[in-house]
Amino acid sequence: MELKCAVQTYGWGKHGIDSVVASLVKSANADFVVNEQETYAELWMGTHKNGPSYLKDMDVPLEKYIQENKNVLGDNIIQRFGHELPFLFKILSINKALSIQVHPDMVFFQEKAEKLHKLYPDVYKDPNHKPELAIALCPFEGLCGFLPIDEIKDYFNNIPELLAVIGETNVRRLSEATSSTIDTVLRQCFHSLMTCDSNEVTQQLKYLISRLHDADVSYKQWIKADLLQRLYSDYPDDVGCFAIYLFNYVTLLPGEAMYIEPNVPHAYLSGDCVECMACSDNVIRAGLTPKLKDVETLIEVLSLESSVKKIEPLEEDTWTKVFYPPVSEFAVAKIMLPVGLPRYTLKPRTSASILLIVTGEAKISSKIFSHGSVLFIPANDVVEMELLRGSMLMFQAFANI
Ligand SMILES: [Zn+2]
Repeated sequence: MELKCAVQTYGWGKHGIDSVVASLVKSANADFVVNEQETYAELWMGTHKNGPSYLKDMDVPLEKYIQENKNVLGDNIIQRFGHELPFLFKILSINKALSIQVHPDMVFFQEKAEKLHKLYPDVYKDPNHKPELAIALCPFEGLCGFLPIDEIKDYFNNIPELLAVIGETNVRRLSEATSSTIDTVLRQCFHSLMTCDSNEVTQQLKYLISRLHDADVSYKQWIKADLLQRLYSDYPDDVGCFAIYLFNYVTLLPGEAMYIEPNVPHAYLSGDCVECMACSDNVIRAGLTPKLKDVETLIEVLSLESSVKKIEPLEEDTWTKVFYPPVSEFAVAKIMLPVGLPRYTLKPRTSASILLIVTGEAKISSKIFSHGSVLFIPANDVVEMELLRGSMLMFQAFANI
């Protein structure tokens, strides 16, 4: 069943037809008009109420169709998650950095959801945690998780502008911290950075940027001058520019994937990616954003673990590799079929799945699908494809149970 999917035009998205989101949607929907001034940031494939997909032929919301035909979900989804599709599948096309953010875990929601939803109804929109998996479609860069503590100390002690916004006392405490106090002190440092007076942030960023003009090559490399200047030109005066001295800078090549656990701070910086997550839109923001920053909650839930979790896919057959994150809501298969392969049968999944065609063209039950086609596949359905043109690249999201 072909889907018509929602587009989110957030300000950080790529413009017009340069955005892979606009290109995919335009290709699959002849009536979609691309506005070159508009930023096409995300394509949402799923049932989340902030961007629901529709069955294209019937113009019925996918959510409604599922409620009227619950067996399409598959027994294992129904047993584990009830009558809901447990994942949200996306394409992101990033022109400039997304906000530094954390997605809270389930424990947090069991304890705080009601209170926070009352305080910030526009921020905490649903009661779900939101682990995320990003698979790069082109060279992709982001920030993810805290740097090793020695690197953080090195930056704090040797960048006077950073020291000024974090505060000398905090930086000294961090240098003197023991293994039992380091967690608390690092949270304090992050808190004082995020709550620093905005005029002070503006001033110190100005000092830092102007100082870089005369710096030598090795210093520029150490201080990540290119990255800093890029963030600064997109978000001048934003405290998030300093975040590169606290978080790991991560790059992904096409086909590489990164898993982001709940409570781990991250920010995507540039590139296009496929993203899958638990069906949630909960984001606590901390910087690189004009939106509300809920710093207190963020500090409270923040994980200080420093590892970056790139994940390797498991080979299912010659053409299909599957990324399995350590959560049950979702897994994502990457399917690459070479030119000349006459036909291919998708592996039946025991849960409902969503298939996106990125390149190539194929006939499925006498209908032709290509670049941008999104299909909802009921649990256990056997999908046979007759390949018509070019090599095919597809991604399929399903429940990891
Ligand atoms: Zn995120």
